[in-house]
Amino acid sequence: MPIKAILTDIEGTTSAVSFVFDVLFPYAARHLPDFVRQQAGRADVAEQLDAVRQDSHEPQADVERVIEILLGWIAEDRKATPLKALQGMVWEQGYKAGQLQGHVYPDAVEALKAWHQAGFQLFVYSSGSIQAQKLIFGCSEAGDLSPLFSGYFDTTSGPKREAQSYQRITQAIGLEAAQILFLSDIVEELDAAREAGMATCGLAREGGTLTGHQTVDSFASIDPTRY
Ligand SMILES: [Mg+2]
Repeated sequence: MPIKAILTDIEGTTSAVSFVFDVLFPYAARHLPDFVRQQAGRADVAEQLDAVRQDSHEPQADVERVIEILLGWIAEDRKATPLKALQGMVWEQGYKAGQLQGHVYPDAVEALKAWHQAGFQLFVYSSGSIQAQKLIFGCSEAGDLSPLFSGYFDTTSGPKREAQSYQRITQAIGLEAAQILFLSDIVEELDAAREAGMATCGLAREGGTLTGHQTVDSFASIDPTRY
């Protein structure tokens, strides 16, 4: 069955893992305290601050205490929903101010443009929030790439290493699983996608092989018409 859609991971696949860990997360940690102090009155921010108070069972925590809790969560890499939401808001401000630009490998930019032009539907599946995904591509070093994409999926569709998540995404896309090519740098994600019936291609940007899957080191080596 010919491929009609391409579903891609971001970190390690379209974009450098180091962009997320060395640029995005430190940026959020650095700017979160002042952001919270300045925007605590904004309804969407206040809602997340209340969620922090609830999650940490400190209903009386003042803004400075909430900031302390948030920085603690960042230090222990806790994936708490209000933290993710606030990080997203900090990033949005940074992208809009031109202080952040999403990293996308040039070979990925070129291929995504060519595939879109050739009529393939493009989708993203990443553990980063959909808001964060849109910012990376919408405010990328290569400009606004968001018109290339037909949809975004995050872990609200399920964990990335479970076949059921890929079944849900297949239903949402509205194609047969075999018409979707999934790209990732993590073998367990490729395994799960294949179990759900998708075609797979592994990205190993430093070289090497993702066991059991066709593996390339650049998007330039991927030909979606050959699956
Ligand atoms: Mg990845």
